[in-house]
Amino acid sequence: MALIKCPECQLEVSDKAAACPKCGYPIAVDKKVQTIEQTGKKYKGMTLIGFFVAVLGLFSLNFSIDLGLSLILVGVVMMFAGKIGGWWHHS
Ligand SMILES: [Zn+2]
Repeated sequence: MALIKCPECQLEVSDKAAACPKCGYPIAVDKKVQTIEQTGKKYKGMTLIGFFVAVLGLFSLNFSIDLGLSLILVGVVMMFAGKIGGWWHHS
C-alpha cells in the first residue's frame, strides 16, 4: 500500500482508496482509466506493427515465397493478438 497525493487538495491518501476522504476526488477510478488507456495504446501499436510486417511480407513474395509467407503469418498473428488483447482488456 502506497500513499499518493490527492491531485485536488494535496492530502496524502492511500492509492487503494476509491476517493479522497477530504474532498471526494475519485482516486482509484482515475488510476484505472489511465491503465486502460495505456494498455489500449500498446495493443493498437502491436496491431499497427503487425499490419506493416504483413505488407512487407506481401512485397517479399516477389523475392522469396517462404520469407513472404512467414512475414505475412507473423504480421497476421500480431494483428490478431493486438485486436484480441485490446478487446480483452476493455471488457
Ligand atoms: Zn482530496
